This record gives sequence, structure tokens and C-alpha cells, in this order.
Amino acid sequence: MGWAKRKMEEDEARGFTTGNNTLICSRHFQDYAIVAYIELNGKNNQCDYCDEDDSNEPYVISFDDLMDVIVQGICNHYGNPDDEGIGFDSREGGYMHDEIYDTYDLIRDEIMLEADEAVIEEIIQTIGMKNWCHYNPYNLSEAEELSFDWDIFCNLIKHESRFVFFKHPKRINKDTGESLEPSYILDRIGHFIVDMTLFYNTRKHDELFEDLHMYRARQHSIDTGVTNACQLGPPPRLKAIKANRFSPAGIPMFYGSGRRQTAIDEIVDRSKLDEIITTGMFKNVKPLNLVDLSQIPEVSIFDLEKSYLYEPSHFLRRFVLSVSQPIIKDGREHFEYVPTQVVTEYIRYVLPEITKHSIDGIKYRSSIDQQDCFVIFATQDHCEDKGNERGDTILALETSSIRTLNIGEYKSHT
Ligand SMILES: [Zn+2]
Repeated sequence: MGWAKRKMEEDEARGFTTGNNTLICSRHFQDYAIVAYIELNGKNNQCDYCDEDDSNEPYVISFDDLMDVIVQGICNHYGNPDDEGIGFDSREGGYMHDEIYDTYDLIRDEIMLEADEAVIEEIIQTIGMKNWCHYNPYNLSEAEELSFDWDIFCNLIKHESRFVFFKHPKRINKDTGESLEPSYILDRIGHFIVDMTLFYNTRKHDELFEDLHMYRARQHSIDTGVTNACQLGPPPRLKAIKANRFSPAGIPMFYGSGRRQTAIDEIVDRSKLDEIITTGMFKNVKPLNLVDLSQIPEVSIFDLEKSYLYEPSHFLRRFVLSVSQPIIKDGREHFEYVPTQVVTEYIRYVLPEITKHSIDGIKYRSSIDQQDCFVIFATQDHCEDKGNERGDTILALETSSIRTLNIGEYKSHT
């Protein structure tokens, strides 16, 4: 076989025009997975893409090796429309599907590769102008399917079966023929939390742990004294009459915000001008292991080891957005919050069976100002004033942090 034919076969197999052995360093990329790949697999040498030689030779890989990662990442999720059964009609203007991309659109608009402009252009040229589409383009993507199943589950527990949903008749997935428990989506979410390590553990070394500053606010009449943890912490069980985002009526939990202003904005009722708001800061007195839903990392398509999490990460981002939507408390909160309350119970009581580690709460973003907030699985009995901690105390109120504010003086900082 001649050289040209061998080269053509190699190009075909690797999915790009091979033979570019120039060296490139990670400084030309913002995509975390490509940067990590170069740092891990590169050798110290001069970079052909940097303007000046560097006396500290950076880690570099050949452009061909870079292209192997790029093409593998793309081919894990996108294929050729002809192989995916998409019809072509030249009179109708080409492929009979809306989501067909040429290489340029795929790299720039669909995948949105973050790199130097000239490098992006060279990558597009090296792959060549081809057509691309999602695998199985007539089915839902995995992320869409998960979102669809989550919506079905929400509808079930909000409007059909609140308490025995785990015994509800199975549903058959039309595409796969799989028979699904409606609650299977909870297990999927649980495993994604573990696989994506969405945990925030305040334990540092041995007995050392990070203090979280968690502000609470309570609006009350001017005659009511609010001066201690008992009055500023969660209500007792029999007074926990409100349904909240993570906890149903009757099951109190501790809600706190990373900023005093967020705590106020979360609870203020501006119609009661004669009332005041008392705020104060609690700190954890022991290490806390939280599920962190405050920021779901985006999995890069070029993170080949986490390729199986690429679609789930898209689902989890949509999921977190949907469960953090503001809900008008006009009575609908009694069913609109049920899905997040069920997920919370799953995280609290079922997820530890997988992680083999107890979970103390959830870190999330405020639906009002996107600041960090916390729900801690702690009742009034677990909250004390600083200095009065007991064995089962989880959170202590810094009494020196207590402030009061007249509703008339209140200004939202959002
Ligand atoms: Zn460079």
C-alpha cells in the first residue's frame, strides 16, 4: 500500500487530517478538560503556538494528540447524519432534521469550545467540513429523557399519589422497553450526586473544621423578644406549620443564608409596617457533610473519563434550576414544594446508604438573590446559644451578632 493510501486510511480512522506534529501548550485553552489533559500527558518543551520562547518550558503535546482528544470527545456524542438514518432531500434544502451541524457550527455554537481564536480555526480545518448530528436524533437525549421522567415524577407526587408513590404501577419506556418504577428518578439523582461528588464537607483535618456563617431572620411584633437560639432558630415541631422548599409542615429544619441581607429578603413581609425583623448568625459546632446543589459543574465534552456524566450534568443543572424557582406562597406551596421535599428526604435517609456517610443538610442558591443558603437537618433541640452547647448541639447562635430592623427602614438589596 502506498504512503498516500495509508495516510488516507489513518485520517479516516482518526477522524481528522493527521500529520501535524507542532507542539501546543495548555495556555491556549480555557476548557478545563483539555488543560488537564495537556498538563497530565505533556512533556516539557517550547510551544509552537506561544509568541515567545519560554525559559520555563511548558507542558506540550502534539497537535495530532490534541486532535485525538477533541475528535474522541465529539464522537462520544455526535455522529454522521447518514449513519443515523436522517433522510436527505436536495429539493427541500438538505437533511430532513433541524439539528444538523457542520463542523464550524458544531465546534463554535453547539459545543462552544473555549480556546484561542486561531486554534479553534485550525481545529475546524483539521477535522474538515463534515455534517454532524446527535446519536439517535429521533429520540430524546439522555438529559431530555431524565428531565421528562423528573416531570412525570413531580406530577405524580403533586397531583396523584403523595405517599405510596414507591408502589405505584410501573411505566414502560417506549424507546427502550424498560419497565420503570416512577421513583427510579430519585435513585438516578442520588447516584449522579455521588458520581459528580456534589458534596461540601466542612471537615478539614482531624478535629479541624470550617465554620459556616448562617444567618437567620425572623419577623415579629415589637413586643416579642427574640434574643436567643430557641427564638431565632427553627420552630418547635408543633409550630412548624408552614410548608417550605425542603421541609413539609410538621418536620422542622434549620434554614440559614450566607448573608444577613439574603436571610431578611427571604422572609420579609413588607405589608406589616409595625413589625420588626431580628437577625442573627449561627455557626456549626461540629463538621457538617452537605450535599452541594449550589453549583453543578459543567462536564466538558472533552473530559473523556467523565463522558458518562456529560448528559446527566445537563439534566442536573436543569433540575437544580427547576427546584429553585421562586414559588408564590398563596397556598400552592403545599404541593409545589413536595418534589423538593421528597428529594430532601431521599438525600437525608436513603443517600447515606450509598455514601456510607451521614448527610447533615443541603447547600443551595437562594431563589431571590442566588447567594449561598443552607438547610441543615437540625431542630430547635440542636440549636443553642454560644457557650451553652450540649452534646447534641449542631448549631450555636453568636448572640453578639443579633440585630433588629424596622420594616419601615427595610430596603431590599437585591
Ligand atoms: Zn503555548
